[in-house]
Amino acid sequence: MKKVFPVAIFFIAMLLPIQADFDHSAYLQENPATISADIFYPGFFKETDAINLENIVNEFKHRYEFFVGISNESRQKACFKTQNRINKWLSRLQQKPDQLPFKWTDDQLLFHRESPLNQMIKPRPSKPDDNCAYISYGDLQKDGRVFCRYHGPEPQSEFYQAHAHQFTETRPFITAYDVTEILIFLPFIMVIPVTWLIMKKFLAV
Ligand SMILES: [Zn+2]
Repeated sequence: MKKVFPVAIFFIAMLLPIQADFDHSAYLQENPATISADIFYPGFFKETDAINLENIVNEFKHRYEFFVGISNESRQKACFKTQNRINKWLSRLQQKPDQLPFKWTDDQLLFHRESPLNQMIKPRPSKPDDNCAYISYGDLQKDGRVFCRYHGPEPQSEFYQAHAHQFTETRPFITAYDVTEILIFLPFIMVIPVTWLIMKKFLAV
């Protein structure tokens, strides 16, 4: 026990300078990365659009939970809320000159507890989901905003509105959502030919 204590102190002492020195110099320069076309089909939709048993069962489950009023807030909605909150703060900070020294941001600058940007937003944002991968577009000092590459941008956001057709075009024509809708409404659709057959038989007699 006596030996463990100094070792623990040593490791804590090693970690402290790392946490205290958050290097944000890269964010003061132009964003080195460019936005590629794959962002128009976010990973979340790639997973949930696929027509397989798991996704169709999940679609039925969501509808049942919504119907009986026990649905929890989805991770995607939590992510959209976080995007909105961060973007409102960015808009507020951008109104005052020289308040935002950063040209761009990603997860590190947004969510790291020692990051100066994380400390500017109140209450301080945290990642809504492990899959979330935030990135900014535009110049953060002027009118730049953020969105999540995994869940996609919030549908009312400027970025989504500006690229709505690209987001729509990249998704498949029929998804697990559509198959579930067809399965739900199939009995109602079947009523029409069955009624027609019964009527035909009835009229023939
Ligand atoms: Zn997300």
